[in-house]
Amino acid sequence: LPAVESKAAVSFKVNSANVKYTDDLIESDYIYENPVVTRDEITGLLSVDPKKTRYQFRTKTKVGRVGLMLVGLGGNNGTTITASILANREGISWETTKGTQQPNYLGSVMLASTVKLGIDENGKDVYVPFNSLVPMVHPNDITIGGWDISGMPLGDAMRRAQVLPYDLQRQVYDKMQQFKPLPSIYYPDFIAANQEERADNVLPGSSQDHLDQIRSDIRSFKAQNQLDRVIVLWTANTERYADIIEGVNDTADNLLDAIKGGHSEVSPSTIFAVASILEGAPFVNGSPQNTLVPGVIGLAERERSFVGGDDFKSGQTKIKSVLAEFLVNAGIKPLAITSYNHLGNNDGYNLSAPAQFRSKEISKSSVVDDMVSANHILYKKGEHPDHTIVIKYVPSVGDSKRALDEYVSEIFMGGLSTISLYNTCEDSLLASPLIIDLFMMTELMTRVSYRVESEGDEWQPFHSVLSILSYMLKAPVVAPNTPVVNALAKQRMAMENIMRAFVGLPPNNEMLLEHKAF
Ligand code: NAD
Repeated sequence: LPAVESKAAVSFKVNSANVKYTDDLIESDYIYENPVVTRDEITGLLSVDPKKTRYQFRTKTKVGRVGLMLVGLGGNNGTTITASILANREGISWETTKGTQQPNYLGSVMLASTVKLGIDENGKDVYVPFNSLVPMVHPNDITIGGWDISGMPLGDAMRRAQVLPYDLQRQVYDKMQQFKPLPSIYYPDFIAANQEERADNVLPGSSQDHLDQIRSDIRSFKAQNQLDRVIVLWTANTERYADIIEGVNDTADNLLDAIKGGHSEVSPSTIFAVASILEGAPFVNGSPQNTLVPGVIGLAERERSFVGGDDFKSGQTKIKSVLAEFLVNAGIKPLAITSYNHLGNNDGYNLSAPAQFRSKEISKSSVVDDMVSANHILYKKGEHPDHTIVIKYVPSVGDSKRALDEYVSEIFMGGLSTISLYNTCEDSLLASPLIIDLFMMTELMTRVSYRVESEGDEWQPFHSVLSILSYMLKAPVVAPNTPVVNALAKQRMAMENIMRAFVGLPPNNEMLLEHKAF
């Protein structure tokens, strides 16, 4: 579907001297408060000093025409998201045993959840859709393209995925079938050997040829569809980890030289990231491997382009980042978290190879770290709950992933509490709305700039590494030397409060002081 000019517009006005609206900008003047704590080295006493920093934010309100390029377009996520956007955009409903089903965007935080804007004159909360805090791109307005090493046209690829119901597939098949993914980069060493049979759409030539070709694909897609902006997102197979080697992928220049020289430790996903950065297109990695090697981050910083990752946080890990936070914040001490998964889709087939499983295991394992280290009453320095992750390939369950988790925690007076969870869910129906949220947040960040009173007058974009995407990601990549947050409630609060800051609203709090009669 061709992109259309976005209809997103300012949906409310904040009446404050600190907020200015022009034809195409919202500017806010914002005081950020975060107390600074110091410890007296002799007495050990903590002292807390309030700290206020004045920020100004500038958000361009015209969204324009936007495109999304998926790497792995012919996979389960790629075809599910493309067909679902098509159904939403064209209002295609389908028949099920329970009656007629309308398309929707459930599971997208931006499109299907609300945030509290304030209270009305009676003190009642007023909620608005998350995506109305500032003008955001809507998936119904975008065009989608991308690459796959499997050249199967998208209609057939959607059937191969076996995710969407038959009556919907039937209606979108012809339109989907018109599209064939662009040829992609295939280095067999990076994904499981069992993927070889689908690799019939691969680029010939050297790594440098591949980089040049992907750059040219992004440029052509942008030009042909008359787009203002393109975002590239990796939803292709999980790769093995790349070794970080001094002189190869540790700096921007070394990485560019390594691609020129065809070094075997540069992965296809890293070449996609580099191509996107050099074309000024934000790049998001939805798989667990370390695509964003130091050289990629260095290059993104140099080019002032955006990158984000890693690994969609769709099911088991999302629940873990809620449950572990709840337990630890309730003063309960998780001793062991044991997670089993089995799935039967192509992702599961690829993950049945040890090196690719290892990438997933690493990405899944760090998710409780920040919660554990935030509570020094429960955990001594260096102490950590046992955390085990198992993934098995069971073809007959298809895309319907099963997740079994056991949380054993220490409670009052040495007692134990065991929680067991069992979750069944279509994997790609969980991941696709996350792709939409990643895309929408990333697109927004391309239109926001800020300046800090203490750092001079220059407006600048946010840091190249988009830690604001953490809510949607299992193992968030953050700017060097900044903290990683995994706890889901904190991650949502960060998105909400940053977007509120863009329109000059204070962070949300649940103090309800207006209801405490004085
Ligand atoms: P999939 O195997 O159905 O799709 C991946 C597609 O990528 C395939 O069509 C494959 O041919 C293609 N591919 C492989 N290497 C490529 C390359 N170098 N260039 C272009 N295309 C390439 O998998 P999926 O279920 O769609 O999941 C995609 C990725 O998202 C996986 O890495 C998975 O681990 C990750 N992920 C998925 C979920 C979820 O679905 N809930 C959650 C977290 C992460």
